[in-house]
Parts: sequence; C-alpha cells; structure tokens
Amino acid sequence: MEFLPVKSFDSYIIAHIWMGKLEDYDIECYLKDEYTVTIDPLLSNAIGGIKLCVNSEKLEIAQKLVIQFEDERRKNAKCPKCQSNNVEYITVSKPKNWLAAILSFSFANYTLSVDQAYHCFNCGYEFKEIEDIPVDIN
Ligand SMILES: [Zn+2]
Repeated sequence: MEFLPVKSFDSYIIAHIWMGKLEDYDIECYLKDEYTVTIDPLLSNAIGGIKLCVNSEKLEIAQKLVIQFEDERRKNAKCPKCQSNNVEYITVSKPKNWLAAILSFSFANYTLSVDQAYHCFNCGYEFKEIEDIPVDIN
C-alpha cells in the first residue's frame, strides 16, 4: 500500500488533530518525519515539516477533506483583538533575549527558540491557541 502526503505541519499537535479528523472518515494515515521535526524543530523547514500521508487509494477524498477543513478553520479562526478572520498559523522564530541572540549568532542559530503562533494579518497581534479547528464540520 502506498502513502502520499496531503498536508504538512510544523507542530505534531496540529498534525495529530488533522490525522484524527481524516481517520474519522476511514482514511488510513500516518505522520512522516514527526519525530525528526519534534526533536529538532529547526529542521522543519529543511525537510518540509511533518507530512500527513494517506493511503493513495483515498488521496482524492483526503485532499477534498483537507481543503474543506482549511476553509472551515479560516472561517472559525478569529483574532481576539480585532475579530478579523485574516489569521494564519505560522512559525515564529526569534531569540528569547540578548544572550540567546548572541549565542545563536555564534552557533549558527542552534539556540533560536522556535514557536508556533497565530498571526493576525489585520492588526499584527499574535496569539497561541490550538483549539480553533472545529471537531465536527457537518
Ligand atoms: Zn487582529
């Protein structure tokens, strides 16, 4: 049986939520590179993140569901500050303080802290929240 990727993630938490959603539709899935990205988040960009792979026989339906879930998520994700829907889940990487900044400069960014957050493209506010994905999309 062949497995093909339908979506990639920076966070294993979000990846697992999506995997669970597809499994609800009887689609066999697994997460590729989950442990690599979880152990070293800085590798995420290099290897394309955690890939949610599905049984190739169900690829088409999985892709349709992913698009549907993304639409729902966009409709439901709201900036707590300005209520805009122009919100995306992004990876924020920044040194925690001046010492980390110097160390990351000296040691090729190994001490950078990598965080995931929602970013509002309307007002610029960033917030952490992972429960924006509706469990039931009916
Ligand atoms: Zn906002």
